[in-house]
Amino acid sequence: MGLTGVGNARELGGYPAGDGRVVKHGVFLRTASLAGATDKDKERLKDDYQLSVVIDLRMTREKESAPDPEIPGVRNIHLGIIDEVAVAEKQKNLSAEDLEGLDMNNKVDRLILAIKAGIVSDQMYIEWLSSATGKAGYAQMFKEMIDLPEGKALLFHCTQGKDRTGCAAMLILSALGVDEDTILKDYMLTNTYNADLISSERQMLIDQGYEGQELDRYMKAMDEVDIQYMVNALEWMKNNYGSVKGYITKELGLTEAQIEQLQTRYLHNMTAHPAKEATCTEPGNIDYWTCDCGKYFSDVQGENEIGKDDVVIQAKGHTSVKDPAVAPTHTNTGLTEGSHCSVCGAIIKIQEVVQKLAKDPQPMTVKVSKKTVKASKLKKKNR
Ligand SMILES: [Zn+2]
Ligand SMILES: [Zn+2]
Repeated sequence: MGLTGVGNARELGGYPAGDGRVVKHGVFLRTASLAGATDKDKERLKDDYQLSVVIDLRMTREKESAPDPEIPGVRNIHLGIIDEVAVAEKQKNLSAEDLEGLDMNNKVDRLILAIKAGIVSDQMYIEWLSSATGKAGYAQMFKEMIDLPEGKALLFHCTQGKDRTGCAAMLILSALGVDEDTILKDYMLTNTYNADLISSERQMLIDQGYEGQELDRYMKAMDEVDIQYMVNALEWMKNNYGSVKGYITKELGLTEAQIEQLQTRYLHNMTAHPAKEATCTEPGNIDYWTCDCGKYFSDVQGENEIGKDDVVIQAKGHTSVKDPAVAPTHTNTGLTEGSHCSVCGAIIKIQEVVQKLAKDPQPMTVKVSKKTVKASKLKKKNR
């Protein structure tokens, strides 16, 4: 997305949504915390993306310690996904032994505590999706999607942009009809976008003496994503609601009609136009796709919008070949020089018919018979 101060920033545009449809670009943006956004980033979000709403999925504590920047004209809504009361309860249940030696000002120690308290686990997405807080948050997110003004963008984020944001992306993409494989691929992209962060934090933990499974568990709590977390959530929804869409209608209160409305608004309905070679007389075209909305694209993902005229390959013009002149005789008509196209056969310069030659006038000097010659000589002599 071209942001320098915001991590794990990407958008949901370009994913195939079945039936030749594809998610529109620049509408749904997912990122890590916006706290580090530069002035340029804010400008880009506001001017290039036409950002209208920011949905902050973090807990109150996280939000207050790293507040979102104000962007003029952009609404910021706080939709905490994690049940903060339940989290506090879980922490209270920890024994003194669990807490021994942990410093709550240290990031790693806070994670260890969260893991020990069962707040961070491969079941946590299911906990969020089944909690009243999580359902209310994601339901409101869909409402914002429905109310989003035409041509505007919606950004959702948490702290690392991977778990609460990952679930939000999973729900949005499912509602739009994107398949599970693509959803998982999008989910796993966090490990690519966070690659630098992951390697430096991993090193930090190794330096602190962590290794093996323990190290992996902490990394997943911090910056990495593990496909199993999302697979568990998807399985849970399929088992309990038949599908993710089933969960969205039953638990988040969206109607089938509203889901259809989202698909109509946020998907391009692509029609393929296969490439056609230009001939001498007829223009051809490159491979291109059009959408019902009137846009032209050079790729099926709808990533490269192009002008209507850009798809045309102009006709090449004929390849002219000279047709030689044919000399007439007194028995055959002839032709003047002409030309035709060697590719399509079209005649470019028409050949004119040249009339047969008249029968030879038999010039005296050549064709006169001996007899006649003699006769004339005699005449001369006799004169
Ligand atoms: Zn369209
Ligand atoms: Zn031709």
